[in-house]
Amino acid sequence: MPANAFKEFQKIVYDVSLYLKYQRTLGMEAFAPEDTQEMLKILDGLEENLSPKKKTLVCAFGTLDTVREELGECTRCSLSSSRKNIVFGKGNPHALLVFVGEAPGGDEDVAGEPFVGEAGQLLTRIIQSIKLRREDVYICNVIKCRPPKNRDPKPEEIEACFPFLKKQLEVMRPRLICALGKFAAQTLLGTTEKISKLRGKVYEFNHIKVVPTFHPASLLRNPEWKREVWQDMQLIQRLLEEKK
Ligand code: URA
Repeated sequence: MPANAFKEFQKIVYDVSLYLKYQRTLGMEAFAPEDTQEMLKILDGLEENLSPKKKTLVCAFGTLDTVREELGECTRCSLSSSRKNIVFGKGNPHALLVFVGEAPGGDEDVAGEPFVGEAGQLLTRIIQSIKLRREDVYICNVIKCRPPKNRDPKPEEIEACFPFLKKQLEVMRPRLICALGKFAAQTLLGTTEKISKLRGKVYEFNHIKVVPTFHPASLLRNPEWKREVWQDMQLIQRLLEEKK
C-alpha cells in the first residue's frame, strides 16, 4: 500500500474509532453479529496489503472469538503437553471490569474455565462485594494452560501467552482491569515491584486503568489481607462510578 494511501487509511481508522467511542457514550454496547462479519470480511481484504507492523491497526476490530481462533490448539510453549484444557476466559465480552489472574489450577484445567476452585469462589464473593455478578465481568488469566503442580509460570510461558491476553484486552477495551496477584500485576505493568507495593493504586495498560490487588488464593492463605482487598475493591467501585 503506498504511503499516502496508508496515511488515509490511518485517518479513516481514527475517525471510525472516534465515531464508535461516541456511539458507546450513547449506549451502544456491541455490533450486530452480521455487521461484525461484514466488517471482518472488509478488513481481511485490506489486511492482504498490509505489512505485519501495520496489521496491529487492524487488530482493534477483532472479537474474542477471533482471538480464541488465533490461539487454536496452542503448542507455543511446553504447558500444552500437560494441560487438559486451554482456559481462555469467561464472562461478559462487553464488561467494564476485567479480572486477570495468574494461571489455571487443577479445577480450572479440568473445567476449561477460570477461577472455579476455592480461590474462584472467593473471587465470586469479592465481585459481589461491589454489587456486581460474575456474569457482569470478564475473568481470564495471563497464562491459558495449567503449569504442572501449580508451579509459578516461567518467563518463556508468559512471553508465549501474554500476546493473547493483550489481544483479549484490546478487543474488549474495558474501563478497568483488576490485576489479581503478583504475576498479573507485574506482567501488565512491566515491573518487578512486589504486589504489596503495587496494590491500592491506579496504573495504566494501553490506556486502560489497572488496579492491582492480592490474589484470592493468597488471601485464603493470609486472611489478614482482607482489609486491603476490600479497600482495593472500593477504589474499583469508585472508578467505575466516576465515568457513569
Ligand atoms: N488462580 C488463577 O490465577 N487463575 C485461575 O483461573 C484459578 C486460580
